[in-house]
Amino acid sequence: GKREGRGTFRFFEQKMDEELKERVTLEIALRHAIQSGEIRPHYQPLVALPSHKLLGFEVLARWYHPQRGIISPDIFIPLAEDSGMITELCYGLLRQACADARSWPGDLGLSINISPYQFKDRLLAARILSILRETGFDARRLEIEITESALTNDIEVARATLGVLQSAGVSIALDDFGTGYSSLYHLRELKFDKIKIDRSFVQSLENQESAKIISAIIGLGQSLGILTTAEGIESTTNSEWLAARGCTYGQGFLFGPPVPASGAAKLIENTAPT
Ligand code: C2E
Ligand code: CA
Ligand code: CA
Ligand code: CA
Repeated sequence: GKREGRGTFRFFEQKMDEELKERVTLEIALRHAIQSGEIRPHYQPLVALPSHKLLGFEVLARWYHPQRGIISPDIFIPLAEDSGMITELCYGLLRQACADARSWPGDLGLSINISPYQFKDRLLAARILSILRETGFDARRLEIEITESALTNDIEVARATLGVLQSAGVSIALDDFGTGYSSLYHLRELKFDKIKIDRSFVQSLENQESAKIISAIIGLGQSLGILTTAEGIESTTNSEWLAARGCTYGQGFLFGPPVPASGAAKLIENTAPT
């Protein structure tokens, strides 16, 4: 009856209240975390195929929460985007990553994810270049990874931003390729240096359709003069299959998971030519 309904409503109200409180608590904690350096870059190796030669690292953010332990970016990146903190978070990570990468051999690159929200800022390119100048990190060693959703707002602004970065020597990778709605449109309208094939395709390679789609993406890249990275490679079988089809770069647990700066340094040391 009516009374029961009201009880249920109150229950939901209470639950929403708790969720809201939890969200606000996390948001306050995140603001503090960004300012106090609890968000740190981890680094995942990017390799050449078929040689498996180390070429650089993708920066993947981790939140070292003093009570909760390491929090995944899938939780705090959306929160940072919704609360307008993503820009500050990203620039902090970029600064830290450039500082870490300064002690790496000069041929190793750094790849960083830029959120769609950051594309609303017309000064995005200028800010990135100014961090490069400030840290003394060579623009030609930096790649930025963007997803299609970054491009949907205003293609002219995106074109201008990417153009400024590319003329300075920064490479642009189209991330999670194959999962968006208008990938081909974006490939026609904008100039990319690299396509990153989404790991959902790579991880379902035993599926005939996935395999054909991957082959087609690699071929598409080749005919447009765009290099391809396959994400989420976990087995030698997959790595060999991809290399045989002309995929030039690989990333995945087979080559190494994301690790802190000390882990990246160790990996570099162990792969250095003797
Ligand atoms: P992404 O850019 O697609 O990053 C690749 C994700 O795949 C990472 O998850 C990585 O740990 C995971 N991965 C790599 N190799 C393998 C593999 O072989 N198997 C499996 N199962 N997974 C693999 P992670 O680090 O949890 O990051 C999740 C997403 O969060 C990223 O997806 C990216 O969209 C976002 N993200 C992470 N750091 C940042 C950041 O600093 N800024 C922004 N804007 N987004 C970030
Ligand atoms: Ca990425
Ligand atoms: Ca990706
Ligand atoms: Ca992703």
